[in-house]
Amino acid sequence: MNYKIITIFPELINTFSKIGFIKRSIKNEIIDIEAIDLRKYSIDKHNRVDDKPYGGGPGMVIQYQPVFDVIKDIKNTSHIIYLSPQGKPLTQEKLKELSNMKNLTLLCGRYEGIDQRILDNLVDEEISIGDYVISGGEVASMVIIEGITRLIPGAIDDIDSIKQDSFQAGILDHPHFTKPETINGLKIPEILTTGDHEKIRIWRKKHALGATWLKRPELLKNVKLSKEDDKLLKEYILEYQENDQK
Ligand code: SAH
Repeated sequence: MNYKIITIFPELINTFSKIGFIKRSIKNEIIDIEAIDLRKYSIDKHNRVDDKPYGGGPGMVIQYQPVFDVIKDIKNTSHIIYLSPQGKPLTQEKLKELSNMKNLTLLCGRYEGIDQRILDNLVDEEISIGDYVISGGEVASMVIIEGITRLIPGAIDDIDSIKQDSFQAGILDHPHFTKPETINGLKIPEILTTGDHEKIRIWRKKHALGATWLKRPELLKNVKLSKEDDKLLKEYILEYQENDQK
């Protein structure tokens, strides 16, 4: 996967590229990240890329020309995404879809955003990372890059861990525990120490379904539960309600 990020803050992306599994994925040639400095495409003597909005009002707007000059050469080979609070909210499904691409260009807005003529004519899709507003598309781009890259075989050491991740199968992940077995009087569920793989699988399934029911019940409407799932979830709910009454 070849990512290009168009931004006025390439150093944010370059720092991100030097850390953790993203750094490793670049080294192993699973991905490539190129931060393109929008200011380098400015024709203004002070390297400005923004100007006041037509019609008046607060804030500045990124101009058409520098963005056009970057995009015109990559348009034919790359899918172009504009990060925007007005875009389609990002989902795990969307990340899976994007992970099949070879070239992705992420266009980061700043200030009030980018001249609408770019968005209407040169962008393939707009993606939002949620119904709130942040100050630039860079952090949103990093969200997308991390989300996609961990789905590419070879990027994460244990690919199996991805299958159980929240949303991957439409439900949330089960709880996790690590050493020590007891701390501050708090014990881990005993079943996890038995080494009985089948019992542990069932416990995890039950608690993944339970966590989804407790925290994000609406997700359960979109998954097809097997007979086993249905039984485990009913058990979980019953136990939860019994504990609640105590
Ligand atoms: N005036 C714009 C917001 C500008 S925020 C509006 O209300 O629609 C500046 C930039 O931050 C945007 O151009 C976009 O690239 C980025 N941004 C802000 N919130 C975002 C979100 N929820 N998802 C993705 N990008 C976002």
